[in-house]
Amino acid sequence: MLDHTWFEEMEGKIPHGEVRTRFAPSPTGYMHVGNLRTALYTWCIARHEGGKFLLRIEDTDQSRQVEGAVEIIYRTLRECGLDHDEGPDLGGPVAPYVQTERRDTYLPYAQLLVERGCAYYCFCEKSESEEDSGVFERADDPCRELPREEVERRLAAGEPYVIRQKIPHEGSTTFHDEIYGDITAPNADLDDQVLIKRDGLPTYNFANVVDDHLMGITHVVRGSEYLSSAPKYNLLYEGFGWEIPKYVHCSPVMRDAHNKMSKRHGDPSYEDLIAEGYLTEAVVNYVALLGWAPAGEREIYSIRELAGEFDLHRISKSPAIFDKEKLTYFNAEYIKALSPEAFAALAEPWIRQAVKDERYDAALIAAILQQRTEKLSDIPGKLDFFDTLPEYDTALFVHKKSKCDEQVALSMLREMSVRFRDIPWTEEAIHGALTGAAEELGCKNATVMWPVRIAVAGKAVTPGGAVEICHILGRDETLRRMAVAMEKLQ
Ligand code: GLU
Repeated sequence: MLDHTWFEEMEGKIPHGEVRTRFAPSPTGYMHVGNLRTALYTWCIARHEGGKFLLRIEDTDQSRQVEGAVEIIYRTLRECGLDHDEGPDLGGPVAPYVQTERRDTYLPYAQLLVERGCAYYCFCEKSESEEDSGVFERADDPCRELPREEVERRLAAGEPYVIRQKIPHEGSTTFHDEIYGDITAPNADLDDQVLIKRDGLPTYNFANVVDDHLMGITHVVRGSEYLSSAPKYNLLYEGFGWEIPKYVHCSPVMRDAHNKMSKRHGDPSYEDLIAEGYLTEAVVNYVALLGWAPAGEREIYSIRELAGEFDLHRISKSPAIFDKEKLTYFNAEYIKALSPEAFAALAEPWIRQAVKDERYDAALIAAILQQRTEKLSDIPGKLDFFDTLPEYDTALFVHKKSKCDEQVALSMLREMSVRFRDIPWTEEAIHGALTGAAEELGCKNATVMWPVRIAVAGKAVTPGGAVEICHILGRDETLRRMAVAMEKLQ
């Protein structure tokens, strides 16, 4: 006999009267871009409505457990600013928030469905994998109509069983999705999916419905790969007599016109993007616009602004293609907008990958990089000339536009080696010395700047010009490099 007071107690805890959304990841070991976007939209809906955002860990598929996976979820949400109101770490009115810790909840609910004729015990032998995916091939399971006495006898004898959903053979099921509208599926196309597995744990599909109900979820936001399961969810809700939440299914994030992004094919996860030198804020902003468009033309949004603007009906039905170049553009914009101090703090570890010599000030180097850095991982490659002056050919000194050739270079370097000797070593003074020389010698600034830059950097393309590079190198190293150049030119 089922204990109906227990059900009443469970139902009594359900919060009402507020918008409640949940992010319900399975701990698979990484957060792919589509998952991050789902989390973001889910969070935005809750924040936009002044509701609650819950984190629930869906770990009932024990074969897919990955060490450290839950930490990745916490870290990603925290870094991205997707703060939750209830979850495994925070607790809340409908705790626990980890499905394996709720394992005793599901079986009674499945038994309730059996009692109502919407589910049945199945004693057929099945491979574990078939059970996990919840797929049952035969339309007519011999256990569907077993007499009650036989079921009780076999249960009492300890026969292993699963509990399956009893889908009506006739008719069709319609559900409403906020993005895709009404969708109808013939019941004959739906399988008698497993609700409770042989190990007593629920399948994802069942735990998800029970928890969404018991946690008072008002908007179920998830990837569109679950659209085809939604009719079965609705039949479960109907079987229980529960109110159906609003469904918000989001189109997939694609790597190209035909393929979804996938870790297996080398597409980056959130963590990969950060390791490549993308800023969290830029990733979040870009990902938000993959499949959702605000009303105006504007593209740059902080996460708070996104929540303010968020209208779920503007989520797109069509799959979005992840465009790394567009992300890079967003990233460059975010880098430019940082304060110099914030950029220096982010850039320093990347600078130090290339510039080990601590005499060269990372903050000064950051200052010449900020306006021309698209992603942080580009930084080390631009700074290869600091620690060691590269080998270079004197042909580099020849530059038509600057009116410089090897001979001009030699005389300019001679001139500047003298002028640099007793000025204060500030950018202003270095600049003054260079432009002062140009003026007195009656030539273009570039005619003086160009050879100095080549001499100190040993390459033609550098972040920053002669003034900044000389300043960072310091007087001694600048003069030494200029001496090397003069030697080459003689
Ligand atoms: N655990 C599911 C996943 O990680 C969540 C799907 C849902 O949000 O319902 O894909």
